[in-house]
Amino acid sequence: MAAIVEGEGRAAASRGVAVLLPLPLERPYDYRVPDGDLPAPGALVRVPLGKRDVVGVVWGPATGEVEPARLRDVIEVLPLPPLTAELRALVDWTARYTLSPAGAVLRMALSVPSAFDAPKVPLGYRRAALPPPAGMKLTPARERVLAIASSRAVPLGELATAAQVTPSVVSALAKAGVLERAPVASGAVFAAPDWRKGGVRLTPDQRAAADSLIANANGFSVTLLDGVTGSGKTEVYFEAIAAALAAGKEAVVLLPEIALTAQWLARFQARFGVAPAEWHSDLGTALRRETWRAVAGGQARVVVGARSALFLPFPDLGLIVVDEEHDSSFKQEDGVIYNARDIAVVRGRLAQIPVVLASATPSLETVINVERGRYKRIVLPERFAGAKQPEVRIADMRIEKLPRQNFLGSALRTALGENLAAGEQSMLFLNRRGYAPLTLCRSCGHRIECRNCSTWLVEHRLVGRLLCHHCGHSEGLPIACPSCGAAESFAACGPGVERLEEEVAALLPAARLAVVTSDTVGSPAAAAEFVRQVTEREIDVLIGTQIVAKGHHFPLLTLVGIVDADLGLAGGDLRAAERTFQVLHQVAGRAGREQRPGRVIVQSYMPEHPVIAALAANDRDRFMAEEAKNREERGMPPYGRLAALIVSGPDHATVDTMASALARTAPRDDGIEVWGPAEAPLRLLRGRHRRRLLLTAARDIDVPETMRSWLARVPPMSGVRVQVDIDPYSFL
Ligand code: ADP
Ligand code: ZN
Repeated sequence: MAAIVEGEGRAAASRGVAVLLPLPLERPYDYRVPDGDLPAPGALVRVPLGKRDVVGVVWGPATGEVEPARLRDVIEVLPLPPLTAELRALVDWTARYTLSPAGAVLRMALSVPSAFDAPKVPLGYRRAALPPPAGMKLTPARERVLAIASSRAVPLGELATAAQVTPSVVSALAKAGVLERAPVASGAVFAAPDWRKGGVRLTPDQRAAADSLIANANGFSVTLLDGVTGSGKTEVYFEAIAAALAAGKEAVVLLPEIALTAQWLARFQARFGVAPAEWHSDLGTALRRETWRAVAGGQARVVVGARSALFLPFPDLGLIVVDEEHDSSFKQEDGVIYNARDIAVVRGRLAQIPVVLASATPSLETVINVERGRYKRIVLPERFAGAKQPEVRIADMRIEKLPRQNFLGSALRTALGENLAAGEQSMLFLNRRGYAPLTLCRSCGHRIECRNCSTWLVEHRLVGRLLCHHCGHSEGLPIACPSCGAAESFAACGPGVERLEEEVAALLPAARLAVVTSDTVGSPAAAAEFVRQVTEREIDVLIGTQIVAKGHHFPLLTLVGIVDADLGLAGGDLRAAERTFQVLHQVAGRAGREQRPGRVIVQSYMPEHPVIAALAANDRDRFMAEEAKNREERGMPPYGRLAALIVSGPDHATVDTMASALARTAPRDDGIEVWGPAEAPLRLLRGRHRRRLLLTAARDIDVPETMRSWLARVPPMSGVRVQVDIDPYSFL
């Protein structure tokens, strides 16, 4: 009797599969496959979960954790290509390394769970297959409507406007059956890039670089494409993309600031005849869904995108490019905390394909990997067409006597005037959005802080409000001081780009100015418009944050002013010097990209600081060597490993209890040290109190495993969240 039951059980188990769901779950759940063939690993399946349906991915045979008789049935296998073994391995690897639930990582690969639901997109009108009924005259107005709706469904309003008719003309055609209702399509086409088309004529150096990239086409390798801004790195890696396409494979390019890629897209189109598929947070639902499916189906052959493009389901990926590989925005700081640059290398290894890391200021991690012989390096030594490196001058602000609340020194003021007179463009860089970073009561010294975060509110005069840059809280400027009651007593302290604009406007009333920040050019359309205005000489002086530094090529821009070069050096951040050097170098690289020579003026109160000295001497390699020595002495990355724990919650006493419990159970193995708990520099964020612990470890230690067993020793507490940040970049 028992034997028979057991036999039945086994038969039922063999009809089961383990399905990973795109939810914060550590492991796959078992489901029964009622009939037909068992779906293969990677297949997308719809399964019940509680009262709803979820689309998940078959991860393997059933685990047998639940009695077969109690398993629920797979509802359907979706008619989509299965996720490749390589992508599934990437999900597992990322989950293990970042200590994230595998389901949360899968969610990034599926991107939008709703991508699989019946489209909820609105309905529009499309030309039906039926000919117009006898007696219906095709007036020119009707003809226009039919022409526009011939290839895709268009919403009523848009259709009427485009055809210059009233909506009743459209309704009449629909009533006659000449138009039919259909879901609105984004209109995106995923045409195949033509790798044969050919682009610019490469210089001999560029040709050699491209040839060595192409020679790596088979198997896993990582190559640093190291070249100053304007040396043609993009043109060179385009050739590697062409080679991947020629081999029938796909390519993905990760860019840090996807909002600002209009010029990149135009160049891609010039080289390959069509635009690549784009992948970023600004895609609407319909386009996101279509793009995901086009990638899975192998129609979208080249995708350019933000870090999440790395988890797209390419059927046969042949190349990964990470442009501006040093950029810290590749580190995702919430949800699954990962560094897309590092995960790109992992995907390259799992897929056995080449990875190209491009930068003019490579990260120390990458440089050391080159020195250790793990990565190759290809150097592009010169700017294209003999454009010279800009001349860099340091303005020592200690000897300037600037009027209060003025920020432009004499060298920069003079140069701005000269440039305007010469009809050339200038750019001022200040990495601070808004008008002033601090608003202070002149009578009592009260500083206006965010009510949710331990940080000052930043005045934004363009929108007339005080904003928190951490939680998004905003409020009006108070008339009376909330602390002492003094009326109109507030003073704006310190510079932001909006305030700098005021100073430039007073200095050069005739100049046409533009403030460029994520507030003003946040969307791709706004970014494209800004690029157009600069290119068509409608702007004389750009005043911007980091966002202006990325990837632009403005031929008439010959002066760059760095208003406060020391800004990023404050604070004890491990990478403060490296990051400041990278940003300032990149900003400086915007000057004089064509025949006209460029000038860079760097305002600093500490000209002897290694970062400022290296900029002045244009000596990146010496700076990096010093930085490397410094980190090696302290056992810091890339010579040692780091991991951070961030303990947070609404009640500070519980947060402290948890943080102390973690400190007591901290690992004490050789080669490991744990620091803290300490109040986080952002002690309060979005209403949550925060404490930090930092683990430093020797390079040979498996840090994720150490963290896992550490956390397992401390029972979770309600109301407290513990976030793990492996290889932290932010220490706030
Ligand atoms: P990087 O990526 O290194 O900053 P880019 O690839 O953006 O350099 O090149 C800088 C500019 O020079 C671009 O406008 C690019 O089109 C142009 N350029 C680079 N190489 C060539 C070439 N061989 N022929 C024509 N234009 C080139
Ligand atoms: Zn806040």
